[in-house]
Amino acid sequence: RVTQGLIVSYAEEFERNYVRRLAIISELKKALVTQQSELSLCYQPKLNLNTNKVDHAEALIRWNSSQLGFVPPDEFIAIAEQAGLINQVTQWVINAVIDDVVTLREHDVRLSIAINLSAKDIVDPHLLSNVTDKLKEFDLPHDCLSFEITESDIVSDPKKAVAELQRFRDAGFSLAIDDFGTGYSSLTYLKSLPVTELKIDKSFVLKLNTQRSDQQIVQTILHLAKSFNLDVVAEGVEDKASLTLLREWGCKWGQGYYICKPAPLSQLISWYTDNLAT
Ligand code: C2E
Ligand code: CA
Ligand code: CA
Ligand code: CA
Repeated sequence: RVTQGLIVSYAEEFERNYVRRLAIISELKKALVTQQSELSLCYQPKLNLNTNKVDHAEALIRWNSSQLGFVPPDEFIAIAEQAGLINQVTQWVINAVIDDVVTLREHDVRLSIAINLSAKDIVDPHLLSNVTDKLKEFDLPHDCLSFEITESDIVSDPKKAVAELQRFRDAGFSLAIDDFGTGYSSLTYLKSLPVTELKIDKSFVLKLNTQRSDQQIVQTILHLAKSFNLDVVAEGVEDKASLTLLREWGCKWGQGYYICKPAPLSQLISWYTDNLAT
């Protein structure tokens, strides 16, 4: 009886997940082609810990679905990747970011925006030329955009990743390895990867102030980055004490709720203007 109950509840859960997945796929397809889109972007600044200035921010997608409510990006991005929709999502993000960069410049805000890419994006032959064309159309320099790719996406096929990422570098874009420390990349590949920045995964940073083991991991990554001549961003900075430690250890950039939460463009503009004033 117990086993039977387990099987029934497993089947029910399987069906619930399956139904939700299908709903996400069909609603996302609609959201991607609708003018007044349910999709939007938030931006989270990266603070330069040496200068206390902000000249970079990361674009993070948001989806407020009329049918499903708020769907977290961790959930729908993974489904979009499996369903073959990620290239369309990324193209939506790129177009929206470039429009926002134009708006930022109208407000005299010169921020470089980082865009998150998936493994399927870096092998997309059209993505890079689309970006370059769109920048040319708006007469924008290449350094107003940069890209982030997760360590786990790189290690799934490192040789291929090296070649594809090189195309982005050749086109003049900075590249960061996201979620660094969770993907088990080998030092051999780290040496040959054409990237400019490591982003230490937030799991090592959230409790940095109190966890001795996290402190050791973060310091090790900082040493490693230094010897490979890479800049480091610590993500997930949630308190002042952790920020102070990172600054002392020579980490160049910090990002996290303590510094600034992801916010819509209008808030980013006022946050930026206020911070310049102080
Ligand atoms: P990520 O690229 O590692 O982004 C960092 C995530 O950590 C964001 O979650 C951000 O809101 C959150 N975060 C920032 N500071 C803190 C902090 O101090 N504490 C904590 N606990 N969290 C913090 P979000 O926006 O929910 O995005 C989750 C993931 O979804 C992202 O992880 C990224 O992998 C993916 N994602 C988001 N937007 C996009 C996008 O436009 N394209 C792609 N391909 N993936 C995206
Ligand atoms: Ca990221
Ligand atoms: Ca990350
Ligand atoms: Ca992540």
